[in-house]
Amino acid sequence: MVCGSNPGRSHRYLATARGLGTTLASRGIGLVYGGADVGLMGALADAAAEANGEVIGVITADLARRVGHPKIRLERVQTMHQRKQRFADLSDAYIALPGGLGTLEELFEVATWNQLGIQAKPLGLLNVNGYFDGLLAFLRHAVNEGFVRRQHVDAIAVSGDAEELLGELAHWQSPNAVKWTMG
Ligand code: AMP
Repeated sequence: MVCGSNPGRSHRYLATARGLGTTLASRGIGLVYGGADVGLMGALADAAAEANGEVIGVITADLARRVGHPKIRLERVQTMHQRKQRFADLSDAYIALPGGLGTLEELFEVATWNQLGIQAKPLGLLNVNGYFDGLLAFLRHAVNEGFVRRQHVDAIAVSGDAEELLGELAHWQSPNAVKWTMG
């Protein structure tokens, strides 16, 4: 799961993160996340843990000292690169909730690893309050300008509803398209 270390302005962001945590636990889906107790990250982890879900936080030792969640099982690593590799090793699918630069970086890493065939894992955006609409419009622009294959954008599931998004991810299929748009 990738999501903001800030709570955002609208109360709906935190409420949605909490709701997703509860839903994951009730479905027996384990949560892998960044191990912090702040923002949407903390709300998601708290809700999943309160509903007796499995939660693993992967975090650098340095960040753990500053914002590590005191009640969650944490795996400590040394660098952010090791951390993201560990996310990939532990995760079967990814959901991005609203967030900032860290969230965007992580979700694009997943999308780029998928398009290069390094992995083939479902990726979805939980589009609360239309938060990702501008990003999706830009991605369509990138497709129209010939820099991104349409299949690689279409392969990112999008929904404002957690249950619906989980359903889409369960039926996700790899686009099986080569990255380069021309020879
Ligand atoms: P951001 O969207 O910029 O708030 O960054 C959130 C994402 O980056 C999370 O998915 C984390 O993996 C990572 N990250 C950023 N800040 C923190 C933090 N204080 N503690 C743990 N992880 C963080």
